[in-house]
Parts: sequence; structure tokens; C-alpha cells
Amino acid sequence: MDHLDHLVRSGWTRAGAADADLPAHASRWLAARTGLRPASTPVAPGSVAPVPDSALPAAVRAVLGSIVGAEHVLVESPDRLARAGGLSYLDLLRRRGAGDLAVPDAVVVPADPAEVVRVLAACAEHGVAVVPFGGGTSVVGGVSALRGGFDSVIALDLVRLDRLVSVDPVSRLAVFQAGVPAPVAERLLARHGFTLGHFPQSYERATIGGFAATRSSGQASAGYGRFEDMVAGVRVATPRGDWRLGTAPASAAGPDLRQLVVGSEGAFGVITEVTLRVRPKPVLSRHEGFVLDGWEAGAEAVRALTQEDVRGAVTRLSDPEETEVGFTMNGGWKTRAVRAYLRARGVREPCLLVIGWEASSAAALRAKRAATLRVLRGAVPLGRPVGEAWRRGRFSGPRQRDALMDAGVCVETLETAAHWSGLSALRTAVTAALTGSLTRDGRRPVVACHISHTYETGASLYFTVLVPRDPADPVGQWQRAKHAASTAITTLGTITHHHAVGVDHAPYLSAEIGDLGVDVLRAVKAELDPAGVLNPGKLIPGPATGQR
Ligand SMILES: Cc1cc2nc3c(=O)[nH]c(=O)nc-3n(C[C@H](O)[C@H](O)[C@H](O)COP(=O)(O)OP(=O)(O)OC[C@H]3O[C@@H](n4cnc5c(N)ncnc54)[C@H](O)[C@@H]3O)c2cc1C
Repeated sequence: MDHLDHLVRSGWTRAGAADADLPAHASRWLAARTGLRPASTPVAPGSVAPVPDSALPAAVRAVLGSIVGAEHVLVESPDRLARAGGLSYLDLLRRRGAGDLAVPDAVVVPADPAEVVRVLAACAEHGVAVVPFGGGTSVVGGVSALRGGFDSVIALDLVRLDRLVSVDPVSRLAVFQAGVPAPVAERLLARHGFTLGHFPQSYERATIGGFAATRSSGQASAGYGRFEDMVAGVRVATPRGDWRLGTAPASAAGPDLRQLVVGSEGAFGVITEVTLRVRPKPVLSRHEGFVLDGWEAGAEAVRALTQEDVRGAVTRLSDPEETEVGFTMNGGWKTRAVRAYLRARGVREPCLLVIGWEASSAAALRAKRAATLRVLRGAVPLGRPVGEAWRRGRFSGPRQRDALMDAGVCVETLETAAHWSGLSALRTAVTAALTGSLTRDGRRPVVACHISHTYETGASLYFTVLVPRDPADPVGQWQRAKHAASTAITTLGTITHHHAVGVDHAPYLSAEIGDLGVDVLRAVKAELDPAGVLNPGKLIPGPATGQR
């Protein structure tokens, strides 16, 4: 493991990676736009939060070692720190030493589903909290090492559940163990001529089990669907034993219990295997950029494409602020010329629309593109270079988070969704809440938004926030802003479209599903996890469950 850098930073920054640094022109723009001064950085990059001694009793450690092998029960500080939380801005701040950091007492690394069942039984018997850990990319506190009412907590790292178990090419199904990272899954499927088509921005690090546990949604969701649409079956380890679901392509055998597991965020059990629908790998793809004048025109265009069923596998609309950030910070294509061209075409508030089509033949690709363009009237075409620049850079956003944090920036994202008729009101309310909370000395934060997942009835909104970090209270600064945004969201949209509930969204869940809904979740947990050891404090709202 590459220690210090991996522990303190997001870990996304590959040494020497060209896209990991903050370009000088981007720093200048941020300084002019937000008043950022590098001197405002309160947290020294390279500092590491203190790690308390492990509270796991020696006898329990021995029991766990007898199940997975003593060498797979890790208690050294770097191993524990590496699983102390996910990759939210607050997680990263805490790992840099700001605020309290919850560190697991041990990291347990089972080899197979049977070992997971035995580990859970042992933890239930000995009163040890268990935090399932996939890629650790949660941005909602999903992998925070909370103890609940227990004296000790382990991170259950699924990294050794790393196999493609089987492929059924006739039915187009593949069974994966839960710890397989997304790029590995794609490589393994490619050998059989298939793809999953699931490409979230966290693609490079997240796992199959993590996707299922959080109802993840990828950038090509318009073409391939959300992750839960791909799940045909699950195998779950619970403290009460092994549980398998999903034996037929469709079933009327009561409610679909797979959907109790998908999105359960490790609170009901540990997903050990997932049976996934796979698709033939497309041979061709083409991405293009367009510009619409103003948010309303852009959102209307995307709605029309979706409801006419002619959108691309990727269909992504940036609002004026995000378009401006993209024009300024990303570079790569001729920004100045594009701005002049748009002015000449009378565009006053450019909103960038990226569309990506995929097909198995040139003729099919042409037909899909033509169908889109027939409906996409009034858009100014920017051509392939803009679309392909987006495709090339689609995973690079996270790589600049460390550099932004080093420069004293509070940088975070949040997401929601609403029906088309309420989408613009939701965007306005969340933007106002974030701007109101984060404006300081008359300087407004950057609050940028895009639509990236669309449905016949509505779409998701994804917000990115950039603002100089408050040196006196960096954690409180973001917590207040997030609360303001979440409060606005609860009346107009869902508290989460794809990041899941975790710790951060749990207080807002009952506003969405009702107290009765929360009681149903509690009842299911009580049945599957009677001792309550599984992922305390996540998903299900409750009393404070321990130090963060
Ligand atoms: C930069 C960045 C970009 C992101 N972009 C996207 C995006 O485009 N789309 C999107 O959907 N999400 C996105 N996310 C959020 C995150 O990547 C997803 O939530 C992802 O599904 C988590 O997968 P993981 O393997 O990292 O899970 P983890 O972070 O390890 O775990 C997530 C939750 O699931 C539980 N869990 C993990 N594995 C299992 C298992 N096998 N069984 C039971 N519970 C389990 C954990 O306890 C935790 O509660 C992004 C995150 C980051 C940091």
C-alpha cells in the first residue's frame, strides 16, 4: 500500500498524472471568481489524523483469525486509517486532521462468501460492529467506522472476493463476487464480448458489491440503466446465514426481495455475489457537444429527447455556471473561439449538452444520431472535439480534488432528482440554499449543476460547489451548507438519486419515505441482523450512534 499519500488524500491522484494538478489558469480564475487565497489553507497537506489503539479484544481477534487466517485480520494503523471513512470532502478533511475521525479497530479480509457468513456470526455473538467496505468511495459516510452501541468495530474489506464466478452467454448473465472493481469487471466481461455499461465517475475504484449496495447510477445510464436495473440476482451473507435471491427473468412470487437488498448499504447483510445482466460490447461510439441558450431551453431539449426515446446512452446538460467552469478550467479545446462562435450565434447563456451514442454498426450509429438530431432543434452544434474531450476527461474530475483542497478550496458535490415539472424549481432552490449558506463578505461560491440521468418522468440534478475554505471552521462550513441544501431538497426532490443514504442523508429519510417507511426498514433489519451489528448509523435514522 502506498502509505501517507493514499491515507490523507483521496488516493485518486496518481503520482505524476497530468490531470492531477490545478492548472495556473484555473487557480487564477478561482481567485478572481471566489476570492480564494492560497494562504487560507488551514490543514497542512501531508498531516495524518491520530489513530487510537485498537479496541478489538484479543480473544475476538483470535476468533476472527481462526475464520479468515490471522494474516487477514489487520490492526496496524495505516491499514485501519485507510478504511477510516470514504471520499466525501468531510472524510478527506478529517483524514487531514480536521474534526473527529472514526477509525476501525481492525480490518478483516475474508476470502469467500462462506467466510463472510462466519465472520458476521462471530461479530453478532461477540458484539462487534461491522462496516462492509468495497472500494471505499462512499461520499455520504457509508463506510464511516461507527460503533453503534458496541465497544469495537471492524471494517470488512471485500477485496478478496475478486472473481467472475460464471458467464451465461445465452441468457446474457454474469455472476461476480462483490469485491470485483468495476474496471476489472469490464476487462473480464470483454473477454466474452460483453459489457456492463456501468461507468460512474468513481468507476476506477468502486466495486460491484458497492454499486449494488448503493443503487448506483453510471454516466451512460440513459443507455444501460441504473445498477439496480442490471441486478438479476444477489447472494447475501447475514448474521442469520446465507440468502440467495433471483432465479428467473421475472417472477410474481410476492414482492421483489432483491430490491430489499439492493440499496441496503450493508445494514441488512453483506452482498457476496451479484448476478448481472450484461450486454454485447458496442463496437462504435460517438460523442458530440451542443449548446442550448439558457437552462430552461436546455432542460426542455433533454426532456424532449428522453420522452421521444431518442437520447444518447450519455445525455448530459450543464447549467450556465457549470458550462462556464468547464470552458474555463478544462481547456483542451479552443475555448476562446467557441465563446466567439456562440456570441455570433446570439447565445447569451450557454448550456453545454454532451450526447454520446453507442451502436454495433456504423449504420445503426448514424440512425441513432439522426433520430436525436431530428428532435434536438435550436441547439448550436459544437461537434465531436467537445464531446470527445468530455469522454476522455470523464473520470478525471476527482483527481483534482486533492489539489483543490491543498489550495484551500472547499470542494464537494451533492445530487438529487425530481419530476420534469418540478426540476427547475429544485435547481433554483438548491442553488439558492448553497449560495446563501456559503456567501462570505459578498463573495459568492461557485454552484454548478448538471442533468446526467434522465427518465421519462424526470431527471437527476448534480451540483458541484467550490468556495474558499473557512479556516476557522472548515467542517461546520460544509455541514451548514449541506443542511441548507438538504432541507430545500426534502420538499422538492429525493434526498439522493445515486449517492445513497449513509450517515449524511439518514436524518432526511423519513421526510421522503415517512415514519412508517423507516419502521419497515427497522423491522427488516431486526429480522436479518437481530444483534444490530451491521453498519450502525447508516441508512436507518436513529439516535446518535457514535463518534464520527
Ligand atoms: C469522485 C466520486 C465520484 C462518484 N461518482 C458516482 C457516480 O457517478 N455514480 C454513483 O452512483 N456514485 C458515485 N459516487 C459514489 C460511490 O462511488 C458509489 O456510492 C459506489 O457505488 C460505491 O461503491 P464502493 O465499492 O466504493 O462502495 P463503498 O464506498 O465501499 O461502500 C458504499 C456503501 O455500501 C456498503 N457496501 C459496500 N460493499 C458492500 C457489500 N458487498 N455488501 C453490502 N454492503 C456493501 C458500505 O458499507 C457503504 O455503506 C462517486 C464517488 C466519488 C468519490
